[in-house]
Amino acid sequence: MQKLTVLGTGVLGSQIAFQAAYHGKDVVAYDLDAEAVAALPARWDYLRPLYLRDLPDATEDRLEQAVARISASNDLAAALEDADLVIEAVPEVLEIKRDMWAKVGALAPEKTVFATNSSTLMPSDIADATGRPAKFLALHFSNEIWRQNIGEVMGHPGAATESVTAVADFAEEIGMVPVVLKKEQPGYIVNSLLVPFMSAAARLYVRGIADPGVIDSTWRTATGSPFGPFEINDIVGMETPYNLNSRSEDPELREFADILKRDFIDTGRLGRAVGRGFYNYGPDGSIQSS
Ligand code: NAD
Repeated sequence: MQKLTVLGTGVLGSQIAFQAAYHGKDVVAYDLDAEAVAALPARWDYLRPLYLRDLPDATEDRLEQAVARISASNDLAAALEDADLVIEAVPEVLEIKRDMWAKVGALAPEKTVFATNSSTLMPSDIADATGRPAKFLALHFSNEIWRQNIGEVMGHPGAATESVTAVADFAEEIGMVPVVLKKEQPGYIVNSLLVPFMSAAARLYVRGIADPGVIDSTWRTATGSPFGPFEINDIVGMETPYNLNSRSEDPELREFADILKRDFIDTGRLGRAVGRGFYNYGPDGSIQSS
């Protein structure tokens, strides 16, 4: 599959478009918001130094060629015209996704395979809206996809094996490590492991058992992991854990959400991307102090 159309050019959509182009795919980046499309050159300027920093094979020349392989569009029909694969990264709202996929199903050529990057919805929640459930499945990326390069491939009972294989192959061709789940699972593999881990850390903190720095260093020392849970919070950014925990039925996790809001979000300590979160970071992203 050579021709990729990415729907939604926000945080993840822009990364998927850039990563595919970096690996030689022809990419159309579609967003319904003209401002999001206009912001794409700035997205590429943000990503370029990160590729140079993190990938030994990145050169200015190769990155320039990647940018040249991406065209941007506000016109859905034109964006889908010759797509081999569509990857959707629009907001995590079921109605928005179903509505989007109904339009795509009506417009895309017969050959096109469809994949959603949804983090929490199941492919079977959306598949019927596409009008071609056998060609629809999930390909889930992790933020900073060029280096956290897992590609979780998850079908649904109506997905065709050829579609699953084609999407897993595509993921590998664009530098991901594909992993095919045998069944649908909310949170795939990564978040099924990560969310309970992060919740356990939040409870230790809320109960006053230990400070975040101690919880993190205990985990790193005991397991050899590079990051503890609060360092991961800083990497993810505070908004996602806040949204997740504020809706929890567990009062301790709601208390954690209140702390995130009061002491972090409202004070601009949004995480590593802004240099401040549970820790203070230097310009190279290393921890300077807690
Ligand atoms: P985002 O808010 O940064 O981007 C969403 C984009 O979709 C915006 O540019 C918006 O203008 C556009 N959009 C809204 N409605 C649209 C429509 N109908 N058609 C086309 N574009 C539309 O969101 P994000 O963080 O990139 O997340 C997108 C998807 O990726 C979600 O399903 C999310 O679960 C998933 N995801 C996010 C992350 C992450 O770390 N941010 C990681 C893995 C998966």
